[in-house]
Amino acid sequence: MNSLSTKTSPPSSPEAQRRLAYFNDRSDQIVSTIRELVEMESPSDNKPAVNRIAEAVAKKFAQLRGEPRIHRATSFGNHLQVDFPGRRAAKPLLLLGHHDTVYPLGTLATMPCQIVGDKLTGPGVLDMKSGIGLMLHALAALQDWHTEECHGILPRPVTVLLVSDEEVGSDSSRAITESLAKKAAAVLVLEPSYGSQGAVKTARKGVGDYLVKVTGKASHAGLDFQKGVNAIRELARQIEKISGFTELKKGLTVNVGVVSGGSRTNVVPAEAAAQVDVRIARMKDAAGIDKKMRSLRPFNRKCKIEITGGINRPPMERTAGVAALYAQAKAIARELGWKLGEAAVGGGSDGNFTAALGIPTLDGLGAVGDGAHAPHEHILISELPRRAALIAALIERA
Ligand SMILES: [Zn+2]
Repeated sequence: MNSLSTKTSPPSSPEAQRRLAYFNDRSDQIVSTIRELVEMESPSDNKPAVNRIAEAVAKKFAQLRGEPRIHRATSFGNHLQVDFPGRRAAKPLLLLGHHDTVYPLGTLATMPCQIVGDKLTGPGVLDMKSGIGLMLHALAALQDWHTEECHGILPRPVTVLLVSDEEVGSDSSRAITESLAKKAAAVLVLEPSYGSQGAVKTARKGVGDYLVKVTGKASHAGLDFQKGVNAIRELARQIEKISGFTELKKGLTVNVGVVSGGSRTNVVPAEAAAQVDVRIARMKDAAGIDKKMRSLRPFNRKCKIEITGGINRPPMERTAGVAALYAQAKAIARELGWKLGEAAVGGGSDGNFTAALGIPTLDGLGAVGDGAHAPHEHILISELPRRAALIAALIERA
């Protein structure tokens, strides 16, 4: 953990100034890289489209003398790993992100990638094509800065992993993410930052999904009412019970988000189901809530109840390692002349997997903007240079 000590030898203020100026001078190039990535649409469920962006991004990293490796996935797009050697013998730093988006092909027609004042808009521009652009430019800068003493070799080894299925749960990439994280000194996640001040994320909730299925017995609501067993009524009682599992003080929430059931008003419904979203702030709450969900029993014994699902992303907790990494980032930001805040958020990312393994993880290092997954998604162009400077310095020091 020595490498994570917050004792750093800060560059002189002119050095920080020089670095900021370097990225300010290249702001147009950073924007054009991001633009190129946004204009390659890559919805998670379109394998050919996601494969295309993986190939294109692999070429960009290869131009920086990284060694790309495509992990072929069967039911999702391919994942991209890029390894960079380093001058210093150290564990690699893992730069983590994803190249899939939530937007279907053709979204660009109604949501074009364009510059409007200080904003760059487009599908996935914030989440997280800009994060990939920032990685590319931070790595290129480090090679530039270290040209003389080491011919453009990075100061320390770096591994980049961009997965293809983050927006749909990371099932096909999780094992790769975890195995690379285990070999890494720390993980920097280039997901969007939080809020208008661009805070990094030092805690994320864990996420679970459950399906509660109730089976009753159908009958004619007029002729045979008493022969029926109403599954919707049973489900309604279960929903009240499930909703009561929420414990706000622990950061544990249970949301029944989708219900279905029944066929016609004149039929006593034989089936009903509810989809439930569970969020936990602490891993130690996982077993308890899981047990409560699985222990649901029918109120009406003539009904059958079936529970499937589970906790699929562990929480990212603010461990000592996470806090140390944040302290380091905050110090770098201070040198660059700004106050970097931190936030705990309810949404999960692949950083949840790496943090849960005990690997120091700092998330939300990507661009500043708003509207992820929404029609007004955008980033702030003026924030890009200092984000790039922060990432470059973290790669050197973390
Ligand atoms: Zn994302």
